[in-house]
Amino acid sequence: MKLHKGDKIMVTAGKDRGREGVVERIWKDKVLIPGINQYKKHRKAQGEKQPGEILTLSRPLPIGNVAMVCPKCKQVTRVGYRIVGDKKVRICRKCDQQI
Ligand SMILES: [Zn+2]
Repeated sequence: MKLHKGDKIMVTAGKDRGREGVVERIWKDKVLIPGINQYKKHRKAQGEKQPGEILTLSRPLPIGNVAMVCPKCKQVTRVGYRIVGDKKVRICRKCDQQI
């Protein structure tokens, strides 16, 4: 997977298109970005001490709906790879820097 936890991304499709966020969790084909793709969940009261409430939660987005924002050039970019020594590193396709 090209994205890592903590990467800055921009949403390219859906209702949050154009918004930026930071990857929190990654699955095979989905990513969770806090604050993006939110929905409201109504929780019933759990007895006396825990009143009912409306929670705002984020749903994971399909990985194809986000694009990486390069930390070096701040542009929305695609990720490429380069072999440095015996390691594979990610590079920005726009500015060609290691990310
Ligand atoms: Zn760049």
